[in-house]
Amino acid sequence: LSERLSGVFDRLTKQGALSEDDVKTALREVRVALLEADVSLPVARDFVKAVQEKATGQAVTKSVTPGQQVVKIVHDELVHVLAGDTENPGELKVDNPPAPILMVGLQGGGKTTTTAKLAKRLTAKNGKRVLMASLDVNRPAAMEQLAILGTQIGVDTLPIVPGQKPVDIAKRAKQQATLGGYDVYMLDTAGRLSIDDELMAEVEAVRDVATPRETLLVVDGLTGQDAVHTAENFDQRIGITGVVLTRMDGDGRGGAALSMRAVTGQPIKYVGLGEKLDALEEFHPERVAGRILGMGDIVSLVEKAQETIEAEQAERMMKRFQKGQFNMNDLKSQLEQMLKMGGMEGMMGMLPGMGKMQKQMDAAGFDDSILRRQIALIQSMTKRERANPQLLQASRKKRIAKGAGLEVSELNKLMKMHRQMADMMKKMGKMGKGGMLKQAMK
Ligand code: GDP
Ligand code: MG
Repeated sequence: LSERLSGVFDRLTKQGALSEDDVKTALREVRVALLEADVSLPVARDFVKAVQEKATGQAVTKSVTPGQQVVKIVHDELVHVLAGDTENPGELKVDNPPAPILMVGLQGGGKTTTTAKLAKRLTAKNGKRVLMASLDVNRPAAMEQLAILGTQIGVDTLPIVPGQKPVDIAKRAKQQATLGGYDVYMLDTAGRLSIDDELMAEVEAVRDVATPRETLLVVDGLTGQDAVHTAENFDQRIGITGVVLTRMDGDGRGGAALSMRAVTGQPIKYVGLGEKLDALEEFHPERVAGRILGMGDIVSLVEKAQETIEAEQAERMMKRFQKGQFNMNDLKSQLEQMLKMGGMEGMMGMLPGMGKMQKQMDAAGFDDSILRRQIALIQSMTKRERANPQLLQASRKKRIAKGAGLEVSELNKLMKMHRQMADMMKKMGKMGKGGMLKQAMK
């Protein structure tokens, strides 16, 4: 993606805000990148539309190109969509013992391996007693496979009784889990090569017997477009509570994650990163987002650039305050900063020693529209006037107020506020070399 984008981005505006055209051009490429990462077409389309609305009009950070900036916006939105509103995706509902967990998915997706991985995790991390049961009656080796994994990780498996149907095995597992005092029992179902009715009916019957607390859909992260179809089907017929994405150790781009999240609305809970039984991680939306876009470095570059610019600005101002300098330009930056930080309320709350001034402002009915008017007043001053506010005498004041379309009385208020703040800055600068101010500006 990065090479493809760089060509396009070279032609984009170099500063100011991102125009609608800039964003459109960049997003056309982003859409292709999403499709290449196996995000399904309708999901990619919706996603790009959402980003377009967010990106247009955003300011371009100085030291990065607009293209990089768009990528950062795309990345953030990806993380946002992938994460959803689930705070802790890796948490499973396993209170109320014995809590059933149903594992579903196509054959070869990694259900059996993931069952063992999760059992190991629940045992080691959460101190749970876990019982695993294989319901895979189609492949004789499948039950053996789970039993062997169980021995490896020291987790009990339900004894194999030949000739039983999946529903009967599920009932037996429930009984055994209850009698044996297990906290959790995991049902590892059989898969098929593709979605079919027989499979779905079988899983439905098992679900009705077990009433699982969690139904996890296990999907191969390399499958791409098919994953959407699989997820849609399982979610509609069985009702899943989460997704596990396996084979993310491979070189797939993981676009399936975005599609499945969009289609089912369920969280991606875990990511499988290998055949070993500890190769399971909680889902990190940032990592998968970076992978889908294939450009983690650009994202961190933009983040750093934004941070640096803010830090540099703060540093510069601090130096001036310490020297007792506080002119209209400084006030203007402060006012703009206030607007950015959630207006007066948010800002004043953070600054120590501002309580008195806040009361005055409250009394004067101070709100964000006043901030904007004050900024307009300062903008209407000449360069020299901003640097030397003492120049502001009657005739200049009239001109400035008129230029901003406001009354001189408002300008007087602004000047009074400037004097008070300049005074305070001087005091704070003298105290502890701006330590307090530094604190306040964080
Ligand atoms: P099932 O048919 O859904 O039960 O799939 P299995 O659990 O039997 O897994 C099929 C194959 O995929 C096995 O060889 C596993 O070792 C392998 N596998 C499962 N999860 C992962 C993973 O996260 N990464 C890799 N590289 N291989 C995996
Ligand atoms: Mg299996």
